[in-house]
Amino acid sequence: MAYDRNNIFAKILRGEIPCKKVYEDEFTFAFHDINPQAPTHVLAVPKGEYVSWVDFSASAPPELIVGFVRGVGKLAKQLGLEDAGFRILTNHGADGEQTVPHIHLHLFGGKRLGAMLVK
Ligand code: 5GP
Repeated sequence: MAYDRNNIFAKILRGEIPCKKVYEDEFTFAFHDINPQAPTHVLAVPKGEYVSWVDFSASAPPELIVGFVRGVGKLAKQLGLEDAGFRILTNHGADGEQTVPHIHLHLFGGKRLGAMLVK
């Protein structure tokens, strides 16, 4: 799938749509999910035009992949979730229920999160 530069997270990254930013570095941008599923629900996106996990992992330059992974770790720490715990999740494609075609990680925390999947 080709990258759609008009997707909502691309617009947020370009500052065209407001968001509640919680973290930013050279590689990573993170903001509160508009429809939170946990007391803390933050979305982290790498600063690059990648549709999905497969696209990002295959095509992004190594410094962006490393920088993003490190950025998400710093984000979790900044949110105060390191000790209590948290969950990172990414949805890929239709079966994964991905709705925004810009690779993003969900970071959940702030309570015991329960089972991995609701059946
Ligand atoms: P996906 O289902 O693609 O993994 O997750 C997309 C997430 O983006 C959803 O949790 C949804 O609530 C969130 N979302 C969709 N539109 C917006 C928006 O305009 N602003 C913010 N902050 N979150 C959004």
